[in-house]
Amino acid sequence: MKERIPQRIDYHRYTEQGVILDGVMSLVDSNKDLPRFNEAIIENTGDISYYLVFDADILGNRFVTGHVGARVVLQCQRCMDNYNLDLNCDISVAFVENEFQQKQAEESSYDIFWLAKKELFDPGVLIEDELLLALPQIAMHSESEIGKGCDVRVNFLDDYDRLREKNICSGKDSSKDMKQSEQQDDDNPFAILKQLKNNLE
Ligand SMILES: [Zn+2]
Repeated sequence: MKERIPQRIDYHRYTEQGVILDGVMSLVDSNKDLPRFNEAIIENTGDISYYLVFDADILGNRFVTGHVGARVVLQCQRCMDNYNLDLNCDISVAFVENEFQQKQAEESSYDIFWLAKKELFDPGVLIEDELLLALPQIAMHSESEIGKGCDVRVNFLDDYDRLREKNICSGKDSSKDMKQSEQQDDDNPFAILKQLKNNLE
């Protein structure tokens, strides 16, 4: 049985003792505990792995380093098809409670995780933040896929746009024609999708 990641951590104690959290967040847990992340993707396809090492340095920085990994489904904004993406995040984050600590952590090149005094740390929040940061700004098939399936689909979508434009222009002469061409457009996406599917199979 998988042990659940703790949700309320005294980071002072963890960084003093050098605690290591090494495990996986099950699909059931991540669906429940990472709502912002799940909102941003089409689907999370499995366990989310994490390896978090708590430590402190001689300057007084208290920090956590390690990595988080997940495999997600995103929608390509080029061809609108779904694709898999592996997310691998390296973590190097210092806990700070005031501006003095923030300045020191930044000088030591840590990312910053703000906590109120005495506030307990929830590693799930950090994991979610890091995964969100690792998502591409614009989801798109990788270079290797562009030129293959992604291009085939884009060409079909382009053809569809041209077809649509032509229909609207030819319907300009009378309002009746216009209505007809709009009617056709309503039906069109389904026909195009069907054609697209046939061509890809
Ligand atoms: Zn694509």
